Amino acid sequence: MQSYQEMSKEELYKVKEGLEKEYAKYKGMGLSLNMARGKPAATQLDLVMPMLDVLNSSSELIAEDGTDCRNYGELKGIPEARKLIADMVGSTPDHVFVYGNSSLNVMYDTVSRSFTHGVMGSTPWCKLDKVKFLCPVPGYDRHFGVTEFFGVEMVNVPMTSEGPDMDMVERLVSSDDSIKGIWCVPKYSNPQGITYSDETVRRMAALKPAAEDFRIYWDNAYVVHHLYEDEQDDLLDIISECEKAGNPDMVYEFCSTSKVSFPGSGIAAIVTSKANLDFIEKQFTMQTIGHDKINQLRHVRYFKNIDGINAHMMKQAAIMRPKFEMVERTLQDELGELGIGSWISPKGGYFICFNTLPGCAKSVVAKAKEAGVVLTPAGAPFPYGKDSEDSVIRIAPSFPTMEELETATKIFVLCVKLASVEKLLAE
Ligand code: PMP
Repeated sequence: MQSYQEMSKEELYKVKEGLEKEYAKYKGMGLSLNMARGKPAATQLDLVMPMLDVLNSSSELIAEDGTDCRNYGELKGIPEARKLIADMVGSTPDHVFVYGNSSLNVMYDTVSRSFTHGVMGSTPWCKLDKVKFLCPVPGYDRHFGVTEFFGVEMVNVPMTSEGPDMDMVERLVSSDDSIKGIWCVPKYSNPQGITYSDETVRRMAALKPAAEDFRIYWDNAYVVHHLYEDEQDDLLDIISECEKAGNPDMVYEFCSTSKVSFPGSGIAAIVTSKANLDFIEKQFTMQTIGHDKINQLRHVRYFKNIDGINAHMMKQAAIMRPKFEMVERTLQDELGELGIGSWISPKGGYFICFNTLPGCAKSVVAKAKEAGVVLTPAGAPFPYGKDSEDSVIRIAPSFPTMEELETATKIFVLCVKLASVEKLLAE
């Protein structure tokens, strides 16, 4: 097959005519499909319904340390929930503080506290002229939303196949004390599905920040979200790497069971050094008397341990994997030889990240919308919604049914072709 770039204008006009006919057919179908947000499908949620049966009015709601989960107490979470989270992220329970139902909320809270009260005795960020965060791009739009909300200046750092460009991270972090944090999704990153290499993790842990209150915001949201049983990415434990590098307090790790059990009704946690936990706990005693321990207990009684979580995630993978494979197959079959897009095949996580020709992403998203397919807005994976190349599109295959996804993917590739032809003809 000839790539679009090799075609003459006449040939491109001909291709365009055919594509427009096909596009008109889809537009006439009045479809309403959505590949925008990384939500689990209802069938994935069905898998975890028995969790609702593990506790009832005759259950003993006593944690292993004797805590009555029906009552106040255990601000940091019950020991078995702290252990479960520690095992998920490869750390130890003494580093874990279990929060409520959302890790994004923990991240927001952490940034918010740094603004109002500073980080372990340093000047509260609200009193500083400038606060900056490094933002590996493309990244998670809600991270960027949190820092934008607080008026943080966000500095883009390009992602490589091994994680953020560490030469750039090291240079910036060591030379600018207004840089207070870096957003990281280190495993099966949102949206590219990239896992940071050992070298990246070690360099991250060994950073020599100019700011004493610089922290790595290590959002390990997809730590157990493998798509395959036999091909799984490994990620070093950042907490112990930071300890080894003499920077024990430099990282806050976040995680939750949102996409393990129920989004919005899981358990979330921060995993960090003892000193950071002590500091956070002081604020917590003002903020809440404790989180939902009954939900913590429900999770532990149902999953039992990390093996239970891993086994459950393989059942979820059996639902997710065919969807990812179908999308990748369609991209390969339809676009593989046209030279108008590239993508990474992830081994886990929730997304496939597609790169169009420069200047085409917005057009693809708009065309798909007109044909009834909602995609994540172009630009969303970048701070301030600005993709300077206008080329990144995040595809979220999990939520639609297989049938819906097949149609949506066909429309997607059609829109990529159409937008690319238009772009090439305009050059
Ligand atoms: N971090 C990342 C990278 C995410 O993709 C998401 C969305 N699932 C979240 C955090 C939100 O997690 P939670 O439901 O725990 O707030």
